[in-house]
Amino acid sequence: MTAPRPSFPSGTILGYPRIGPNRELKRAVEAHWSGTLDATGLEEAASRLRRATRERLIALGLGGTDSSIPESFSFYDQVLDAALSVGALPERFAHRREPDGTIGSAAMFAAARGEGDAAPLEMTKWFDTNYHYLVPEIGPETVFALSNDRFARQVAEAKADGVSVRPVLVGPVTLLALAKATDAAPAGFDPLTRLGDVVAAYRDLLRALRAAGAEWVQLDEPALVSESLPAGPGALAAAADRAYAELGGHADRPAILVSAGYAQLSPEGWRALAAAPIEAIALDLTRGDVPEQVAGLEGKTLVGGVIDGRNIWRGDLDLAWQKLERLSARGAASIAVGTSTSLQHVPHDVSGETDLDPRLVTWLAFADQKTEQVVTLARGLRDGRDAIALELAAAAAALADRASAPGVHDGAVRPRTASLAAADFARTDYETRAQAQDAALGLPVLPTTTIGSFPQTGDIRRARARFSRGELAADQYDSFLRDEIARVVALQEDLGLDVLVHGEAERNDMVQYFAENLDGFAVTRNGWVQSYGSRATRPSILWGDVSRPAPITVGWSTYAQSLTDKPMKGMLTGPVTILAWSFVRDDQALAETANQVALALRDELADLEAAGIGVIQVDEPALRELLPLKRADQPAYLAWSVDSFRLATSGVSPQTQVHTHLCYSEFDVVIDAIAALDADVTSIEAARSRGEVIGDIARSGFAAGVGPGVYDIHSPRVPSVDEVGALLDRAVADLPLRRVWVNPDCGLKTRGYDETVASLRNLVTAARAGREKVGAPV
Ligand code: GLN
Ligand code: ZN
Repeated sequence: MTAPRPSFPSGTILGYPRIGPNRELKRAVEAHWSGTLDATGLEEAASRLRRATRERLIALGLGGTDSSIPESFSFYDQVLDAALSVGALPERFAHRREPDGTIGSAAMFAAARGEGDAAPLEMTKWFDTNYHYLVPEIGPETVFALSNDRFARQVAEAKADGVSVRPVLVGPVTLLALAKATDAAPAGFDPLTRLGDVVAAYRDLLRALRAAGAEWVQLDEPALVSESLPAGPGALAAAADRAYAELGGHADRPAILVSAGYAQLSPEGWRALAAAPIEAIALDLTRGDVPEQVAGLEGKTLVGGVIDGRNIWRGDLDLAWQKLERLSARGAASIAVGTSTSLQHVPHDVSGETDLDPRLVTWLAFADQKTEQVVTLARGLRDGRDAIALELAAAAAALADRASAPGVHDGAVRPRTASLAAADFARTDYETRAQAQDAALGLPVLPTTTIGSFPQTGDIRRARARFSRGELAADQYDSFLRDEIARVVALQEDLGLDVLVHGEAERNDMVQYFAENLDGFAVTRNGWVQSYGSRATRPSILWGDVSRPAPITVGWSTYAQSLTDKPMKGMLTGPVTILAWSFVRDDQALAETANQVALALRDELADLEAAGIGVIQVDEPALRELLPLKRADQPAYLAWSVDSFRLATSGVSPQTQVHTHLCYSEFDVVIDAIAALDADVTSIEAARSRGEVIGDIARSGFAAGVGPGVYDIHSPRVPSVDEVGALLDRAVADLPLRRVWVNPDCGLKTRGYDETVASLRNLVTAARAGREKVGAPV
């Protein structure tokens, strides 16, 4: 019963950055939260931004009337938008519905940010990216119904400008696959069991989109590529089979494009989508291969995601073209070109980056340049390869230029990584080290420490901004930072902490700071990428061989050490995290790049040790995040990531205590890798899960020092001495006493001083009480 369908455009992007070229959305949304912009003003700002995006994409060559322009706007998060559009608003925010029962932006922001006692939805990473989505809460009691007309209004808004957009929504299978059970749900409840009801609400949503004039709709189903979700690929494909048989089986809907990016679509998912009554399928051909021939493609369009939506490289356009040719042999009715994922993971436009080396710029493509690449390849699909020969040649020339550029291959770096031997990755055994460290450091039982940063106050941010604008001379900025360090050290002595930190006031960001001080990296002015909600990060570009021209942190750490007799902990960011939070070169294996970063850090550790720093922490909060979505790829990843950490840290002597820090409380698949890091002390987020992770650590037989976080720094709440004490009791009950450390969950940079001081005071008091309980000296 399918009606005649509009044909799919020959080229499209799967989504566009929504933060605005100058972070206009952040400003508007934050003004709204602070009360200086009302709801109408906010909607107007969003509307202006969407119009600017449409006009920009048309100017770049996408069609205004052929549905090649996606409407992927979101005020906060696309998963939240989809959940709320079908009614999945947690009960604790029910009073925030509009008077007519619909779910508007007031309820949406409340769910995203929390309100009073009502905790926000949990936030977690979107597949293997650094974007965070809000986890939908779904139970047997959730009432699914079309609950707002946001998507339809956006279609109508574009239509009024004469543009036919293709609304982009997270699809029903992915929505449920990423959801967690509500608190009210019975134990073991699986949100996927609500598929039929969710699909019924999507069906109404599609009907409304059609009524608003949408010819195409895009439903994102990246769950169909993952092997890391609770429901395996088979169950997810079966869910897709059911969902799309139902959604596709009605005539009063837009034509449906289902996209499955971030990795290779599972074979089951591919068969299910090919057989479904939908009109187009978008595949990720940068992290996945051209799939096998399957039944059901005759009437469909295949969108080849050959332009990488997740990196900033101009890349190999000719290779992209060859993939499209291979895709065209799969028997589909037509082929189109697309990005591998939404472009939300890359910055807007490289042409504004006037501070970057112009040669580097010719190797790069941000969202606008990637859109142009899509437009070029689409022209090739329509008019033949010869029509785009010039563009293919220009891309090939840029690639060749990059391959031969000085710095991309550095003659001093290569021999070092090439000659690494097993001994470069290993320290002496843990027991020997522990004895040497006990003797060298003389720490009490249940030693207290923090994770590194202290509050980044307005004063610090202002001083940094003035320094970077040239309004504050280098020596003035330097003495400002020294005063700050002296204050933080004195505060920690006053609080009675055992292992001190210098506070990281000199760092804007834990990765960018190192990128700015290492060769092989470039830093953008305006290369912002949404991290979550109104927050954006500015990843550095790792373009060449990495080396360390000079010591980076040694001056700050030794100055801090000079102010105290307590051990001062040196503070570095680990190789995996530096890679995870940068745009990394795509012309060599990540393992090679990681080893280069590791060697630079190894030199820094050696210099810290030589300068008298006896405790050094190497943070790896992103170790878990980079874990590949495909099980088959995980062992190799875990091997090189662990190796790079060990390479960075194994050059120091046994009595130097190496700490690491991890920011997640689910150890599951990475627990063996964490043990393999072979750090002397591992601090890990645990307070929010009430110390659940302690049991996991105990069961895993982890032998070294562990500091399960006892203070949740994601909240301004001050934990009481009893609360901290209860978490400590749990740790002491499950883990060997000598191995337990007492620390917060994470760095303190986002907190204010009042709550930080009060919380740390309680933490120290609880640690002393803990010592008393076990009869150790206080
Ligand atoms: N040392 C860093 C800090 O304290 C660690 C931050 C992190 O874990 N993300 O800020
Ligand atoms: Zn952390």
